[in-house]
Amino acid sequence: MSSQKGNMTRSWPQTHQNMFTFKNDKFDKSVQTKKINAKRHDGVCQCCKEVLEWRVKYSKYKPLSKPKKCVNVYKRQ
Ligand SMILES: [Zn+2]
Repeated sequence: MSSQKGNMTRSWPQTHQNMFTFKNDKFDKSVQTKKINAKRHDGVCQCCKEVLEWRVKYSKYKPLSKPKKCVNVYKRQ
């Protein structure tokens, strides 16, 4: 009978678990990702820019043929 299971206690502290920032090109070295990373979001307002940069950072960005309208414009209407 083995009683060793679950006996693996971690001996290192968890202090640096958030040291590394997420990088979308860490595993994905495709040209598409490089292009997206190099893309500058000109012609959009600051709020949209932040959203776009967030999307790029977390690999959620899909290039659009037409730039989307600012979401805050819709909110105001
Ligand atoms: Zn905006």
